[in-house]
This record gives sequence, structure tokens and C-alpha cells, in this order.
Amino acid sequence: MSEDTDVIIVGAGLAGLRAAQVLDAAGLEVDMFDTAAQVGGRVTSTLVDGFVLDEGFQLINPAYPELIASGALIGFDLRRFAPVIEFSDGRRTTVVADPRAGLVDAMRSVRHPALTVSDAVRLTALLTAVAGRPVSQLMSSPDTTTRRALLEHGISERAIDAVIQPFLRGALLDDELETSWHYSELVLKSLARGRPGTHPLGIGALPATLAATLTRTRVHLGEEVTSVTANEVTSRQRRLRARTVIVASDPSGARRLLGGGDVAWRPQTTWWWSLPSLDDSDRLRIDTRRRFLSSALDLSSVAPERAPRGHSLVAASANVVDAAQDEAVRDDVARLYGVGVAEVQLIRRTPVPRALPVVASPLDLRRTQVIGGVIVAGDYLQTPSIQGALVSGRRAARLALSRLHEPRRD
Ligand SMILES: Cc1cc2nc3c(=O)[nH]c(=O)nc-3n(C[C@H](O)[C@H](O)[C@H](O)COP(=O)(O)OP(=O)(O)OC[C@H]3O[C@@H](n4cnc5c(N)ncnc54)[C@H](O)[C@@H]3O)c2cc1C
Repeated sequence: MSEDTDVIIVGAGLAGLRAAQVLDAAGLEVDMFDTAAQVGGRVTSTLVDGFVLDEGFQLINPAYPELIASGALIGFDLRRFAPVIEFSDGRRTTVVADPRAGLVDAMRSVRHPALTVSDAVRLTALLTAVAGRPVSQLMSSPDTTTRRALLEHGISERAIDAVIQPFLRGALLDDELETSWHYSELVLKSLARGRPGTHPLGIGALPATLAATLTRTRVHLGEEVTSVTANEVTSRQRRLRARTVIVASDPSGARRLLGGGDVAWRPQTTWWWSLPSLDDSDRLRIDTRRRFLSSALDLSSVAPERAPRGHSLVAASANVVDAAQDEAVRDDVARLYGVGVAEVQLIRRTPVPRALPVVASPLDLRRTQVIGGVIVAGDYLQTPSIQGALVSGRRAARLALSRLHEPRRD
């Protein structure tokens, strides 16, 4: 039976888009399906009352190698935040960073009351090694949980709880630091290399930019795929045959289509607040009083387009799905930004129960990518990040290309 297309991709998140980009550039005919009405998967933005909100607290690190390789950053209006973290209880603020340095460089010269001289020296040595060593060297040592690795490096419990956990929990969505140390090393390494930022149109600008690079791919949105084989895909609207099939869905979608076990997830809720215009607020803020929020950030400090004139847009997130916290979070945000509670207006709460797949140790970056002849991609097969999703998409595309050998010529 003849095929309708070269490659079918199920899922137009970052993994699917990167796979499509590589195949499209190789001259292949690609059909890509997504249940959602837009591309981007977990990376989307919406406009609410003049505020541009993201589907959760998400930042783009311009140092991600695969993001650079995708070309998406060329001409991309990334607005970066100051490489500074403020720990604040509302009365006293400790700045844990040097504004002239990169974030991790800055943490090396940390001056925090909870850090003894010995902690500061050990932390400096550890971060220097993580930033400087090649990934292959970092990955060659035995992996363990992040907390255990820090203790094994001689960092005290007190320093971990006062400085490192508040810093890492927002990136890992993990309050206990049970995440693979190797993954934390990759996160710290990327922070040493690049200053994360946002886009005036929101995080959704990233998948939109990737999608715009596709010249011959047909993108079928709002079309759920209900079954797949190695050469055929059935959606609610059609049945299509291809020379090869890639499932680049989230892990739950892959399980529904291909079987296998589910993965454990880490949740996140982001509260989006309207505040009066703030000055000098382009720093990540961490609340040391209640310690419920993992962080708060004024996105409009670098992207004023994201809020109506006269307003600031503050995102505050926690690693829970908890609807009963609105008033307490409002208090936290008012305290962190030194404004009255009445001036802090809730725009929307974004609970994401399945935000990031859990990354247990040992980290395995070479997980199986083929199930029943179907190629599989997704962040959960690499790392739960923009970088991980893009790498897995590129690997899936390369696998498809090696199967097909010669691109079909029109
Ligand atoms: C709240 C939150 C905060 C984050 N913060 C950051 C951050 O700051 N920095 C960072 O690097 N990363 C961050 N991430 C992680 C990053 O967004 C993800 O790792 C990445 O987007 C995953 O991409 P993916 O393509 O693997 O999966 P997904 O984005 O989940 O895409 C899968 C797609 O498959 C589609 N699909 C599933 N089943 C079917 C089907 N049967 N038929 C058709 N389509 C289907 C889905 O609709 C979806 O669009 C964050 C994620 C979240 C949720």
C-alpha cells in the first residue's frame, strides 16, 4: 500500500516541533497532529484583560545548546532578567548575587547569613566544577539525589535549606531536592552560561517561532490521534499512512497510544497578579517568611508590553496544586513588593498538575526511543525542560531519517 506522507508526528509541543523542523529541512513531507488548537504543548500563553500570561511560570534560557541549534533565538526578542536573587521576609532583604556576574558565578560569592565560611568555600568549589566541567565528565560520576550530593560535597543542612533549596526548588519544582543530582548539575550549568528571560508575547512565542520555520509540514490542530502503528495513524477525522511515525506526545498521551507505564509528575501553580507600576523589580524574589512560594517575578519589568500601561505583571508560583491559597499568596506578594494588599489584584491562577515529569536518579539521557516500531520523543525521555524536549525531538528526527535514508523528492 502506498503512503500518504513521509513522516507523521503526533504532538506539536517542543519535541514534535523540533522533530518536524529537522525533517522539514531535510526535504521530507511531514504531517503533524495535535489535540490542542495551537502548537506548543505545555508552552503556551494567553491574553487576559491586557496581560500576557503563560501556562505556568516558565523562562527561556538562551544558553540551551539545542535552542541555539534550532535557530529560534535568531531575531527572538528575549528580555533577560537581572542575574540576582533577593531573599526577603518583607523587612530584611538579602541579595544573593552580584549584578555584574552570571547567576551561578554570583552564587559563588554568596554572602548569606546562613552560610558559614566553610559552606561558602565548598559551594564555590562545587559550582565552579559544575560550571567548568564538560557534561560527559559530570555524567560519568555516580548519580544520587540532589540533597544527598550536596551533603556528600560537605555543604551543611543549614546552608542547603536556607540558600540552595530556595534557589533550586523553583527550577526543579521539587521542595525536597530528591531530583537527580546530574539533572541539577545540568540546570546549574545552563544558569552559569545564560541569563533566563521572557518574551513580550509570552513563552508561546517560542513554539510559534519554531512553527514558522516549517515550510512544507502540514500541521493538523484540534485533531486527536486515537491509535498508531509503525506506519499508520488514525485520528477522529482521518486515517493516514506514512513511511514512519513519531509519537512526540506527553508521557500520558504516549501511554494511551503505545501502552507502557505512566510517569510521576511534579505540579506547579502560578498566581498572576496585577500590581501598580513597580520600579527596579527585574530580580527573582524569594519569600523567606512563609516559604510557600518558590519564587515571584515581575515579568513586566523587562517586558512592559505584557501588562496594560500603569500596571505590573507579577507571577508567583508554588510547587502545589492548591486553590485555597489565594489570599495568603496575595499577602506574600504584597510583602515581597512592598505594596498594600489592596493594590494586589488576582488576574488568574494557573494550576498545572502535570508540569514536569519527575527526574529520579540515576539520570538516563539515552532512554528507549522506539516502541513497536514507532519512534517516541518527549522531554520525559531526556530532561524536563525546553532543552530536553528539543533534544529528544531532534534525536527522533535523526532516527526517522536514518530509517528513510533518502528524502523523497517532489
Ligand atoms: C508550569 C511549567 C513550567 C516550566 N518551566 C520551564 C522553564 O522555566 N524552563 C524550561 O526549560 N522548561 C520548563 N518547563 C518544561 C517544558 O515546558 C517542557 O519540558 C516541554 O515543553 C515539554 O515539551 P514536549 O514536546 O516534550 O511535551 P508537551 O509540551 O507536553 O507536548 C506534547 C503534545 O502532544 C499532544 N498530544 C498528546 N497526545 C496526543 C494525541 N493523542 N493526539 C494529538 N496530540 C497529542 C499534546 O496536546 C501536546 O501538545 C516547564 C513546564 C511547565 C508545565
